[in-house]
Amino acid sequence: MTVRPGTVTIIRDGRLLDARAHRADPGDILVIGDTISEIGPPGLAAPAGAVTIDARGMLLHPGLINAHTHAHGNLAKGMGDRWTLELLLTAAPWINGNRSAEDRHLSAKIGAVEMVLKGCTAAYDLPLELPVPTHEGVESLGRAYADVGMRAVLAPMVADRTLYEAIPGLMEVLSPSQREDVAKLRPVPWKTSLDGMRAGLHGWTLDRQQVGLAVAPTIPHHCSDEFIRGCADLAKEYGVGLHSHVAESKVQAIVGLQRYGKTLTAHLDSLGALGPHFTVAHGVWLDHEDMTRLGDHGASVAHNPGSNMRLGNGFGDMKAMLERGVNVGIGTDGANCSDNQNVFEAMRLASLVSKGRSPDVDRWVTTDEVVVAATEGSARALGFAGKLGRLLPGYLADIVFLDLRHPNWIPTNDPTNQLVHTEDGGAVTHVMIGGRMIVEHRRLTTVDLEALARDAEAARQRLESVNAPAKAIYERLAPAVGRFCPGLAHVPYHAARYVGGS
Ligand SMILES: [Zn+2]
Repeated sequence: MTVRPGTVTIIRDGRLLDARAHRADPGDILVIGDTISEIGPPGLAAPAGAVTIDARGMLLHPGLINAHTHAHGNLAKGMGDRWTLELLLTAAPWINGNRSAEDRHLSAKIGAVEMVLKGCTAAYDLPLELPVPTHEGVESLGRAYADVGMRAVLAPMVADRTLYEAIPGLMEVLSPSQREDVAKLRPVPWKTSLDGMRAGLHGWTLDRQQVGLAVAPTIPHHCSDEFIRGCADLAKEYGVGLHSHVAESKVQAIVGLQRYGKTLTAHLDSLGALGPHFTVAHGVWLDHEDMTRLGDHGASVAHNPGSNMRLGNGFGDMKAMLERGVNVGIGTDGANCSDNQNVFEAMRLASLVSKGRSPDVDRWVTTDEVVVAATEGSARALGFAGKLGRLLPGYLADIVFLDLRHPNWIPTNDPTNQLVHTEDGGAVTHVMIGGRMIVEHRRLTTVDLEALARDAEAARQRLESVNAPAKAIYERLAPAVGRFCPGLAHVPYHAARYVGGS
């Protein structure tokens, strides 16, 4: 995937971040092929012919890992403002509709480019392909990441219910003509989706260490029980991850209680979906029992504080999750609701959201917990535990070089605190992924940004025109969804627990 297996690189005189110790001592890193072979004090011996990278005046940290994003979101960045999650889902046919295979590839590439330029080297990506994910479609997205030189795990989103079927009572408040609008959105039968995913898992041709696959029943109550069981079995059969948006909005949490008489997490547990391979996206409305259940299963939460605030979903309690043994990764969510792909910003928000929840400092995450989450925690969610997320011999050589002469680092008092609270991606100078320099002196070595911008503008114009009717449908539906769902969200959560199952 990356460099020739025998290529040897010695990175000299950088300051190597030890996030837990809040230190960054000078050191050299020897990289052989795509892997860190040795780390030692400056002057580390290197074989003759090794390529030298001068990292004087730079802080080196493991590549950040985005635990939750959506490839299709990148062509839709900035299209909305005052959107709840349910309004965003209502807008989906407008902002994501009529995409060609080239559009989907382009959208993935835009996101990958943004992420690597901002120090992120791997992502858990849940793309949308309508009406059903195809082997060719997912592989084309995988090639977008491979072209950029970034790593990804792709979990195409699937469902067998529309939003209007998933939320009890919503269909009833629609007018007959609105019901006609949403009738056209009916997803394909779940067996067709499972067959499509199985074909992808079976025939995957890309290097799985660079771009792998996982399974994503998108939102639990948007999927029938049989479908979720089928997804869970498929993930187990192929030894891949399972990822779902669980308790992202209060509406979801309440609908879970209404439909199943228990929380969405308890429902997934009863279907056999939980395990170390399982990732909850968001988990804003998890209760402590849910967190314990996830922790006991060794499962992960992808915490996306920027998106959670942007969509009015609230503030996930990362500290409570960590205390209950949940593996926490940090994500941006898709650019259609975040609206960037900046994991530095996501780390900063994770810290600030935790602190903003209460004045009790014991309930706050520390900056080192945040860095560990955005590196090792996300790596574990992606299935790369022990391979990504640390600067250690035997780990893959995914390394970000920050310029310590950038104002973010003048002066450098505490590297861990500043990585979380000060750095915004502005100091990213080089990015190495698997031993290969993908960003050098702030420029991509793999992709022509001007050509990408031209292609994106052409796609934007075409999609704007072809999706005008879908936008009109959104505008017809938005008042009803915008009225009904916040009303549901005003039900006190604890009261909803007692009427659950009715
Ligand atoms: Zn998402």
